[in-house]
Amino acid sequence: MLKEAIQFFQDEIRPNAYAIDHDPKAMTTAFHGLKERGLLALKRPDAFGGPALNESEFRRFQEEIARYSGALAFLQTQHQSAVSLLNKQAGDKIKAEYLPKMHGEKTVGLGFSQLRRAGNPICRATVVDGGFQIDGFVPWITGKGYFDEYIIGATMPNGQALFGLIPFKNVKGQTLSKPMKLAAMEAANTVTGQLESYFLPNRKVAFIKDKDWMRANDAFNITLQGHFAIGCALAGIDVVRDNGDKRGLAFLTKAAKDLEQELHDCRQALIDSQKDFGEDTASDRLKKRAWAIDLMMRCAQAAVTSSSGAANTADHPANRVLREAIVFSVSAQTSAIMEATMDRLVGR
Ligand SMILES: Cc1cc2nc3c(=O)[nH]c(=O)nc-3n(C[C@H](O)[C@H](O)[C@H](O)COP(=O)(O)OP(=O)(O)OC[C@H]3O[C@@H](n4cnc5c(N)ncnc54)[C@H](O)[C@@H]3O)c2cc1C
Repeated sequence: MLKEAIQFFQDEIRPNAYAIDHDPKAMTTAFHGLKERGLLALKRPDAFGGPALNESEFRRFQEEIARYSGALAFLQTQHQSAVSLLNKQAGDKIKAEYLPKMHGEKTVGLGFSQLRRAGNPICRATVVDGGFQIDGFVPWITGKGYFDEYIIGATMPNGQALFGLIPFKNVKGQTLSKPMKLAAMEAANTVTGQLESYFLPNRKVAFIKDKDWMRANDAFNITLQGHFAIGCALAGIDVVRDNGDKRGLAFLTKAAKDLEQELHDCRQALIDSQKDFGEDTASDRLKKRAWAIDLMMRCAQAAVTSSSGAANTADHPANRVLREAIVFSVSAQTSAIMEATMDRLVGR
């Protein structure tokens, strides 16, 4: 399955990566390509239709898709994460309603990064008859026009976090913005949501978690998210290697090789650190994530440098990779990841 997926990325995604980044029509075609090949619910257990990819195969998939199109990687991962989240956390009814259809019939995005923010909650849920009332702001929801629903995160008066499924469109109590103008991945249609007395019926409550669940979940994901940076770094190395071949410059070929060696080491470090997962290993895992981000940025810059002036032309892969690297530097960022990244950048 992985082999087939990579073939699809090389044949149909790589040649259209520029269009997929900024043109929703090209993105729609690419996203349908994933649906048709059964690549949208890769970690779904066999009991709900599979294919239950194991962790290492799944991370390899995430790297390879990010290598050929950061925008498509970013869009599809929202839905893949929703599959995993519902499978791990939701009750039986929601699982039975959603999971069997999540290979593409039912598509779901995410809107809960606001739960990471310090201070007064910006999106709140209060108990009302038959469900919850949601009020506030969702600063990031990717996938308008691609996903049917999204999982919203809202803070309850007792500090717990409510996760519920709501339509990904303007409905009574919810106004979504127009897709944001972004430096990269604009075609993934990222919007904001304003909620005013939105009624979430009990049957759409996915799960409720204690205050620090989000922190624990983020801690678990510190290095897992680093695989997107690895994929983006691979894309940068591909550009450097191609330039070495085209221009006959041996030092570019050597640079690509050296970066590739570092990438193998960094990837292995990410994989190893996930094996000794625990609170006490968080600082080590933060360092590995910062390494992956730093390496990605260097590979993207190497792609630009090796392409010379042409890197500035709008459709050149070097500037797309550099722009995608901006998103993968901050997606699922916590203040601890920000600090680890800064420490690495200033050479501490
Ligand atoms: C293009 C794009 C699309 C995205 N799509 C989605 C999506 O579909 N779904 C989704 O859920 N998320 C999405 N995100 C959000 C992404 O995961 C966030 O970038 C990430 O959670 C960081 O949040 P933030 O950028 O809003 O920064 P902030 O929340 O402003 O800050 C980042 C970190 O710093 C901490 N912090 C901020 N201010 C303070 C303070 N005053 N004191 C102490 N700590 C502070 C926060 O707690 C947080 O950990 C998207 C982001 C981008 C760039």
